[in-house]
Amino acid sequence: MTTTLPEHAPFYAAIAADPDRDAPRLVFADWLDEHGEAERAEFIRLGCEYWRMPYCGHEPELLDAQRAAPTCARCRIGLTADNLVRTHNIEWTVNIPSGVLCKWRRGFIDSVSLTTRQLVGEPCEHCKGTGLVGAADGPYHVGCHVCDGKRTLPGLAADLGRACPTLRAVVLTDREPYEDGAHDFSWWESAPPRRDHPQSDLPNELYELLAVGESMFINYDTRALALSALATAAARFCREAGRGSAN
Ligand SMILES: [Zn+2]
Ligand SMILES: [Zn+2]
Repeated sequence: MTTTLPEHAPFYAAIAADPDRDAPRLVFADWLDEHGEAERAEFIRLGCEYWRMPYCGHEPELLDAQRAAPTCARCRIGLTADNLVRTHNIEWTVNIPSGVLCKWRRGFIDSVSLTTRQLVGEPCEHCKGTGLVGAADGPYHVGCHVCDGKRTLPGLAADLGRACPTLRAVVLTDREPYEDGAHDFSWWESAPPRRDHPQSDLPNELYELLAVGESMFINYDTRALALSALATAAARFCREAGRGSAN
């Protein structure tokens, strides 16, 4: 699945515009069938069917234990889909930057996991964030070739936004909401850092997406809600970054 093929774009746009319905996904599956990608088409159909069926009580992680002989129809479908994605993992994730863990749902990449720095970028260590090298050696500075003089290395957000038009959640593996009392979980802007709990600090560009239309401090009743809100905001960050760099 080379997601950036121009002829795929209208299908992805339709899927992204109506993410809860299977129909736009199945339309794309039909098109793939007609264009020599029968297994990718089958994977989408199986994924839609799997998530449409009532929960059978078997967690996906238990599929391995059932691999020899799945005991229910839903697990058999899940296993077939699982085998397809294992076989085609490299070609179907060719546009996904390395080091990013992908989860599939209903035939498409639904969520990815990575660190905050991988997502938003980080200061260039080669030039210590100055954009110049040779500064210590005298007056002859040259632009840093690692960051191209830009001082920071770009994150993966734009790449992910372009490669995964169906992305619903981006899980930041190094972030944890600040817990203050039993029913109060919150995120903070990274400046100034809260040194007692740096895992709750967010880069401004992510924090602003959470804060849209809200007060300065955003509290969540549960840890799960706080994590989910951040994952949704980070996915939006990727989509916007992908659109911004597409032109
Ligand atoms: Zn089952
Ligand atoms: Zn540099």
